[in-house]
Amino acid sequence: MDKKELLRIIPKVDELLNNKKIDELKELFPRTLIVEGIREALDKIRERILNTPENEILELYINPDSIADDVANRVSKLNKRHLRRVINAAGVIIHTNLGRSILCDEALDAVLDAAGNYCNLEYDTAKGIRGSRYSHLDEIIKRITGAESSIAVNNNAAAVLLVLSTLCKDKEVIVSRGELVEIGGSFRIPEVMEQSGTRLIEVGSTNKTHLYDYKNAINENTGAILKVHTSNYRILGFTEEVSTKELSHLAKANNLPLINDIGSGSFIDFSKYGMEYEPTVKDAINNGADVVTFSGDKMLGGPQAGIITGSKKYIDLMKKNPLTRALRPDKMTIAALEATLRIYIEEDKAIENIPTLRMITEDKEKVKLKAQRLSRMIKSILSDRAKISIIEENSQIGGGSMPLQLLPTYALAINSLNISPEVLEERLRNADIPIIARLKNDSILMDLRTVRDEELTIIKDTINKVL
Ligand SMILES: *Cc1c(COP(=O)(O)O)cnc(C)c1O
Repeated sequence: MDKKELLRIIPKVDELLNNKKIDELKELFPRTLIVEGIREALDKIRERILNTPENEILELYINPDSIADDVANRVSKLNKRHLRRVINAAGVIIHTNLGRSILCDEALDAVLDAAGNYCNLEYDTAKGIRGSRYSHLDEIIKRITGAESSIAVNNNAAAVLLVLSTLCKDKEVIVSRGELVEIGGSFRIPEVMEQSGTRLIEVGSTNKTHLYDYKNAINENTGAILKVHTSNYRILGFTEEVSTKELSHLAKANNLPLINDIGSGSFIDFSKYGMEYEPTVKDAINNGADVVTFSGDKMLGGPQAGIITGSKKYIDLMKKNPLTRALRPDKMTIAALEATLRIYIEEDKAIENIPTLRMITEDKEKVKLKAQRLSRMIKSILSDRAKISIIEENSQIGGGSMPLQLLPTYALAINSLNISPEVLEERLRNADIPIIARLKNDSILMDLRTVRDEELTIIKDTINKVL
């Protein structure tokens, strides 16, 4: 058969819609998607016919039953939600590309409750009058940070923008040259300042900034002093920075607000758990910062949010800024944030229940047990299809937090005897529940620190399928 003839005998969409196998799909999938799946499958066949040398046998492609199988695959793909869960075996706890922190059970319950029902988002049930969406967080933030007042917005970038545009519009803001941070995804302190209508006054040098540098920069146009935590980098060696405490004295003496963007928003002093000290919200406030901003989904372990805490007089101004309306968090965020924050009333519970904190502090021997369990599970099904060993590795906190902190961990190193590590990595990534693993020294590494017990079976089944 020549190509022309082949192209003519390709079934029509309507014919395929009556195919028995495709007819069965109608029970499961919307008709529009089935038609789309058929069109895709037929296009593919046409393409193959046109791209194949004349003398090869092409009739094989045109078998309604095998077309139907292809259609079923395509329709099932088209029907899948685009945003889906994945398994994080990469060992980066606050993995920005994988959605940063995962929520604790309490937060998940709260989201379902608030989102699946009407709720008192902006209604004061005691008085029967309009209430404020920010009121739900006020008490709890005050309790765990000691801050006088607070407001939450969509993320920390929005928090910094709102603070600067409320307190310093058309004024100068003094920042150390060592703190002109860029966070992934184009958040740069100098650019946020420009957006907020404030003028950046850089002082000091990259490695050293002294108190007198700030002092000399203050004039009648100064709106604030801004201190930014260098979340995702460290300047080491011959360095000097001015502490929040010293800056707060200088700010007070000049009647200026001291703004402290601490980035990650820890409520717990991680040095107690044998890690680097990461500034806590409470310390920033105790050291005299007037306004402190931080993320909800980094070390705090809650939903994406930006939290602004500090003096009531400044926060009240922010609540009146029309920009706040554009940056406000929705009810699901507020629900998840409140539930997460409540757990912090007891630090032990926070460490135990908030996944981000649990993963950061989990003892490596516990991770090892998980690795051994997964290794046994995989070995029992694979026998001779792969080589598996348990190796010592390091996990990372991620999310631009504590860049130098290594977390000793255990990982499963997997080598297939049939396919290359690159192909294995790709197949794991394309599984029904994608598994995100690392390629290192020609092995697939699965770090068990970021994998939960209930995910081990999914990993086992996926490996069984892809190998
Ligand atoms: C992460 C970070 C931000 C941005 O926070 P998002 O919640 O990602 O918007 C701003 N400042 C610092 C210091 C940060 O670490």
